[in-house]
Amino acid sequence: MKLPRIALLSLALLAAAGAAQAAPNCTIKLKGDDRMQYDLKTATVSAACKTVTIQLAHTGKLAANVMGHNVVVSATPDVAAISAAAIKAGAAAGYLPKGDARILAATPMIGGGASTKATFAGSKLKAGGAYTFFCSFPGHSGIMKGTLVVTK
Ligand code: ZN
Repeated sequence: MKLPRIALLSLALLAAAGAAQAAPNCTIKLKGDDRMQYDLKTATVSAACKTVTIQLAHTGKLAANVMGHNVVVSATPDVAAISAAAIKAGAAAGYLPKGDARILAATPMIGGGASTKATFAGSKLKAGGAYTFFCSFPGHSGIMKGTLVVTK
């Protein structure tokens, strides 16, 4: 079948417009290392994402019990309280207080050389809200954190 040239062109334009519109970022991709740092200070996702995926790779060598990293997402004002509750929850709980509604999402705690991920619904986020991603290992959230920018 042969389509007129103009029809092909408009199809291509439509496809391009659709792609530009329907391409919000839905992945938070982070690396953590033995210096207690994430590689990013800011990540951006859209509240329109059906599913937001958090990917974490620990590029260091130290074990999870001395240099464990995870990624927790919460409203920025909740970071300090969650971090305190995480210490109470202890290592056996992966430094995550169980059933804490302030935690919007969290990956498992991992050690050097490992990687992990978690997913959550974008509808848990509000565009323009103040959100932070951080590591809940004791003492890490002071510097091991970044801003999660949420777009429409
Ligand atoms: Zn950490």
